[in-house]
Amino acid sequence: MKMIKTALGIDIGGTNTEVGLVDKNGKCLQIQRFSTAADRPFVEFMAQLEKAIALITHNGEIKPFAAGVGAPGANSETGRLEDPENFSWGSVELAGIMQKKFGIPVKVINDAKAAALGEMKYGQALNLKNFVQITLGTGLGSSIIIDGKLVEGHDGLAGELGHIKVRESTRQCSCGKIGCLETYASANGLCRTVFELLSRNKTDSKLREYSYEQINSQMVFELAQNGDELAIEAFKYTGTVLGETLAGVISLLNPQAILFAGGLTSAGNYLFEPLIQSIEKNLLNMHKDTVDILISDQRINYAVSGAASLVFNTNGKHK
Ligand SMILES: [Zn+2]
Repeated sequence: MKMIKTALGIDIGGTNTEVGLVDKNGKCLQIQRFSTAADRPFVEFMAQLEKAIALITHNGEIKPFAAGVGAPGANSETGRLEDPENFSWGSVELAGIMQKKFGIPVKVINDAKAAALGEMKYGQALNLKNFVQITLGTGLGSSIIIDGKLVEGHDGLAGELGHIKVRESTRQCSCGKIGCLETYASANGLCRTVFELLSRNKTDSKLREYSYEQINSQMVFELAQNGDELAIEAFKYTGTVLGETLAGVISLLNPQAILFAGGLTSAGNYLFEPLIQSIEKNLLNMHKDTVDILISDQRINYAVSGAASLVFNTNGKHK
């Protein structure tokens, strides 16, 4: 049996980490998932990662030639994680540490950028040259692709749309600032909006029965489907705020598409109807009807194949 050339594609998220065995066509042959436990020491994460890699490689029987890693706060220039928000690891020399431990070359990239690379090479953004990807998860991640290339910026830190200030408010962001887009347009932001609406008006809602810790975006979605007006209003407000910012992004970059990924996209029209209305309302006339709205296939984690594509691309033999 001929061995296929494979690489590890690793997506380190705030909640879960996924380790995939990926071939040169971006196909994920096997995947392992474990809890990142970002509040625990980094050495514990490394022990978990080692276990996952042992499982996926059948204890070293399969030999991936390199690893690509997508992670929050990852700097592709230095190979370091720069003190990612919501992680207690501080600044970690991830590429170097992994290289030593597993004996293969390792490249790292910001997680949102890994997802955009995956989408561009294998997903919804196949053949698109100019697009913006917005990941609506616990927080808000974003990546910009111009002329078929990822925009990295001077220090590899471009694309932090989530931390643009969008409102005068009391919403403290994980970055330490107040009123960032992420505190509105994300799963957490949606829950914060729910509680703001609950305190502001008397609308009857099942959401009044829960504490802040108990609610999540999936519950809000299910209640919206059952006609809960406050839940519907919360999505409407989320879409409206996000649409205002995206209209500005479209004016600035003139992308052919905006691609949405992340758990919050499963809310469908509860989110996208007000979002598209808000974009249209705030667009310059010349930009109207120029942008496609695309939604990622949630069954596939493109950050895994996108991270792996980093190492396939640097090797001339693998196109
Ligand atoms: Zn922020």
